[in-house]
Amino acid sequence: MRFLNNIFWPSCCTLCHRGCRGSFCDACDAALPRLPSSCCPRCTLPTLDGGLCGGCLADPPHFDASYAALRYAGDAAHLIVAAKYAGRWPLWRAFAGLLASRLPETPDIDVIIPMPLHPRRLRERGFNQSAELAAMLARRRGLPLRYDLATRIRDTGQQSRLSLSERRHNLRGAFAANAAVRDLRIAVVDDVMTSGLTLDTLAITLKRAGAARIEAWVLARTL
Ligand SMILES: [Zn+2]
Ligand SMILES: [Zn+2]
Repeated sequence: MRFLNNIFWPSCCTLCHRGCRGSFCDACDAALPRLPSSCCPRCTLPTLDGGLCGGCLADPPHFDASYAALRYAGDAAHLIVAAKYAGRWPLWRAFAGLLASRLPETPDIDVIIPMPLHPRRLRERGFNQSAELAAMLARRRGLPLRYDLATRIRDTGQQSRLSLSERRHNLRGAFAANAAVRDLRIAVVDDVMTSGLTLDTLAITLKRAGAARIEAWVLARTL
């Protein structure tokens, strides 16, 4: 069936393999959990009028803007976990397309960097999913991609079981920035944003090193 689909249709759905014109068929596309259309421009949490959320008004993160393609829930969460551990390339390409469609036409950005992974984690997993996503976005947008501007110098382990204050403590000193970030407008690409604390910690490190602007480009966001 898949063979026949490929003859009659230029591509097939990344999820159900039915013939379609994009990466996902209409049914699968409609089933992906999305974010509401009006979100805080800084942290992507839903707001009534698309203005800044209460959290960002009171205590803004150190990144200046964020964009997310999906809500991290249901099918999207299963897919991202599967794609992370099985390295499903067509799915990552489809994800990159979803995220690219949420970004402004001409982003206020000089360079794209992936959320750095500690070398030990990279050896365990074999690839950095954020780096794959960043490379695909850089190609789509014709923007330079750098892997050397930020590094993870401390292995922070699994953060998901820690409380927010434990996470904050655990992330201290996790990143180092290259002096070449001075005056650059940088988009940091990550797969999932939960509390935003990891992205915030990296943004602090990059801004201390002189970066002019930091945006978080994430595939999915928990609400
Ligand atoms: Zn489908
Ligand atoms: Zn906000």
